[in-house]
Amino acid sequence: MSSSLTATRTALRGRCPPHLPRNLFAKQRISREQHRNFIGFLKKSKSGSQHAPPPKPILSQDDLFHPFSKSPFPAVQQRGEAIKQLAPCPVCASSHAQGHPHVTRKNVNFECPDCGWPTHCSEEHWEADKEHHRFCGRLREANEDEHDLRSGREMTEFEMPAPIGYDETVSFANWDVFWYTRGFPSMDTERMRRHSSKLLTYPMTVASVLHQNSGLTTSNQRVTPEGIRALAALRSTLHVPTGSPETEEAGVGKPVFRVFILGARAESSLPPHVWEQLSMLFPSVSMHVHFIGPQVSLPNLEDLEKMKADSQQAPEAAAPESEVQTSPSASEQASPADPESAAPSEAIEPAPASYLPNVYQPPTPAPIPVQKRTRSSVPVYGAPSYTVPYRPQISITGIQASYADVHPSLFDSLDPYSDVFFLFSPGLGFPSPSGALTPAGEPVLQVSSPSEWGETLPMLLRSKCSVFVTGFSPADVERDVRALAQAEGVAGEFDWVVTPGENAFGSEKWEVADFDPRVMIKTNWGIWGIKGKRRDIREWEQ
Ligand SMILES: [Zn+2]
Ligand SMILES: [Zn+2]
Repeated sequence: MSSSLTATRTALRGRCPPHLPRNLFAKQRISREQHRNFIGFLKKSKSGSQHAPPPKPILSQDDLFHPFSKSPFPAVQQRGEAIKQLAPCPVCASSHAQGHPHVTRKNVNFECPDCGWPTHCSEEHWEADKEHHRFCGRLREANEDEHDLRSGREMTEFEMPAPIGYDETVSFANWDVFWYTRGFPSMDTERMRRHSSKLLTYPMTVASVLHQNSGLTTSNQRVTPEGIRALAALRSTLHVPTGSPETEEAGVGKPVFRVFILGARAESSLPPHVWEQLSMLFPSVSMHVHFIGPQVSLPNLEDLEKMKADSQQAPEAAAPESEVQTSPSASEQASPADPESAAPSEAIEPAPASYLPNVYQPPTPAPIPVQKRTRSSVPVYGAPSYTVPYRPQISITGIQASYADVHPSLFDSLDPYSDVFFLFSPGLGFPSPSGALTPAGEPVLQVSSPSEWGETLPMLLRSKCSVFVTGFSPADVERDVRALAQAEGVAGEFDWVVTPGENAFGSEKWEVADFDPRVMIKTNWGIWGIKGKRRDIREWEQ
């Protein structure tokens, strides 16, 4: 039980970016004027022409279903092979459980003709399975989504809108209202909604909690009276007084707003222009997003060294941090005299990796591309780390270390008005992978385990900063919330900020586990928030 839970938890986190098309990293935001002519997902040609004819898709929209072994895309074939290595046949497994030890437990090898996934050891066991129809529809949808991502069609759902106009008001009621009020291209199909929500779920979950137009309110009982106070403190930094225009100038003198994302994995390898969409929703404050965790994706160190050497050779190509950027693309404005830095995201993009199965301890996401001004932050944090001052309004730091190791360098500066923590599917209620047991013989949960969250959560509560946590299903949220009651330094030490419930900005795409294609989750399905308990003076009088 405990090992399968652990497997589920670790397997289902952090799937997002490795499955996005690689050229997403080269994609830049567009203005609305550019939108009509923009050639969807293509990297800009060297000539910079925006008027080339759209590419002919490799697969048409009525040709997206392919059994994994027959897929035109090697990455999909590789995933099918990985599943065959990992997933047991459910019919063999249940006969085994029912006391037929002579039945050899086999892995899946036969591909269901309706969904194309390897689902059973043989056609006989596929026919014998009365449960598969419950999963088959979603699996078929996931199969077609995987092929659609690689189909070469113009993917307008990945185009990012330009900064907000001063007279625009963004609503966070749900994805549809958000996409519309924020000026995204219209999401015409369910498939476009799934792709876009999967890409945007991490930054927009953060934005939708913090923003003054959040759909989480006291009237729907998602925000507590204590939560009102906590959110008002954060919003006093994030926004300007009512009636004033939200401009960059209005932010002069404000502290930098820091978002700490702990235990980060997939979210740390999202392209920076996707995180930039978060800062665009708060035009009057500069943001600094920190990814902290043992599985944070870092730039390839060799690429960083190469970058440094290049910029020493051509110092004019290294813009000072204070330089105001007017071009939407750092790569576009690099000195043309320096062909290496003219297109860093293309030149330095790592070679395509073969498929990495999403089981047990999924590997840290592949190294992220080096941005123009990426620099090492090792001297600051004493751990493998980098910082990108991506735009004046947003910087990104990644630190590959456990939060407890970084906390001492941060604690004195943490401020509930300008700092906030997010934990995306931390698995608090899952047994620790260390296999440790309590004195009563129960598995130690990650919320209490020193190798996972045991030290971190009490540290966060002592900072009095708000901590927001997501889960991938109703059961996952409930498991994490229940675990709080068992953890020393956590139980009785927090106030609710946001009550547990559904997150309107979760991904709408089903993520399928390679170790068992019947296991499916939705990234950031639910959300809740807490903060360190407020100690009133009354307590001292008692
Ligand atoms: Zn079987
Ligand atoms: Zn099927």
